[in-house]
Amino acid sequence: MKIYRYCPLCKAELTTRQAGGRERPACACGYVQWGNPVPAAGVCVLDEGKVLWVRRAENPKKGLWSLPSGFQEWEEDIRDCARREMREETGLTVKLDGLLGVYSAFDDPRNNALLVVFLATETGGELVAGDDASEARWFPLEAPPEEIAWESHRQALADLAALVAGRRQ
Ligand SMILES: [Zn+2]
Repeated sequence: MKIYRYCPLCKAELTTRQAGGRERPACACGYVQWGNPVPAAGVCVLDEGKVLWVRRAENPKKGLWSLPSGFQEWEEDIRDCARREMREETGLTVKLDGLLGVYSAFDDPRNNALLVVFLATETGGELVAGDDASEARWFPLEAPPEEIAWESHRQALADLAALVAGRRQ
């Protein structure tokens, strides 16, 4: 986590104080740097045994693959975030079917994150990579991209594989 040296509210130099059980950067004006993970939504569309992945157009992890996903905006419901990221990165609209899983992510240099991954069904649109995705492509569930950008997405994929295996029994 990046530690502020100066108060983002009043520009004074930060000191530290006890808050919420640990020492944190703090200011006489009342500001405390809490440092919470950032919520993000991801979407897992499984269609005829294939999963939709996108290739990252930007760093970090440029060129590696991820589920369509992104950080939640302040005023946005996490479900709207999932649908928006899907539309921006793949051109597709989806119906969310439920939760695949919730994952803590510690391998993104920008932020620690809380990733909420939804199962979804395509409802329309045309497959076109966009925003921070350079490519959008269906991969067989059993043969995912070799280079997956994030550990949390590998965990989601493992959970999906277990879910599908359970349905087949
Ligand atoms: Zn201050």
